[in-house]
Amino acid sequence: MSRTHGKVWLVGAGPGAPDLITLRAADVLRRADIVFYDALVHPETVALAAHAEKIAVGKRCGRQSTAQRFINKRLVDAAQKHNTVVRLKGGDPMLFGRAQEEITALQAAGIACEIVPGVTSALAASAAVGVSLTQRGLSRNVVFVTPRAGEGESLHDWAASVLAADTAVIYMGAGQAQLIADTLIARGLQPATPAMVVENASLPQQRSHGCTLGTLPQATAYLDDGPALIMLGQVYAAAQKSADTAFPQALTA
Ligand code: SAH
Repeated sequence: MSRTHGKVWLVGAGPGAPDLITLRAADVLRRADIVFYDALVHPETVALAAHAEKIAVGKRCGRQSTAQRFINKRLVDAAQKHNTVVRLKGGDPMLFGRAQEEITALQAAGIACEIVPGVTSALAASAAVGVSLTQRGLSRNVVFVTPRAGEGESLHDWAASVLAADTAVIYMGAGQAQLIADTLIARGLQPATPAMVVENASLPQQRSHGCTLGTLPQATAYLDDGPALIMLGQVYAAAQKSADTAFPQALTA
């Protein structure tokens, strides 16, 4: 009789606050035998896996983290030993989480895999600033984009998708704010385009900075070390006053 493998669950931990997780995710964590978790996952969320062996696998931009290929292999190995293997990822696993590489590796090894969605940080940041990503008459589409390309990945025209969108949410971009602003302005986007930078969305350290495309680099200079999103579009024009800090266009002169 062939040996039966366990199952791997790719679970969304949500944007940060430990109570922004689905009931399904909490249930799978409680049953987990082993959990591989990303750096941005809240310790209380990891702790839900009361009986599991817990393994940190890094992943913060530009810092030391476990190589993706090695993570894939560890998931396959773990499923050969354990019934319930959880790969716990920040936000939603299917957005900028390299989930496909893990799914492909598991499929190739004949291991069952199920995905539990999570609240992506763009939605937590929208909740934080109280501005809907879509609005009647103002925004009928949203793009989730990153200027970041992985090692060996061919360059992609991230700016084209921002230019084509009514509202853009830029992941993994706060460290490149100057380049983002310069590129988009050179491509014809107005420096006065309203923008928001939201750091640590959903956490007690959450901060929002209202700015424009032109003052974006000044706003990101105020960030601490937390994960941050850049949001651009006319929907943010009315929200500038409610931000924690504001960087109006005049400052760029
Ligand atoms: N899968 C995740 C995104 C992973 S990429 C999700 O669905 O949210 C990591 C990037 O997400 C960070 O560089 C940052 O841009 C963003 N991010 C993650 N958590 C965040 C938070 N709490 N507040 C603001 N941005 C966050």
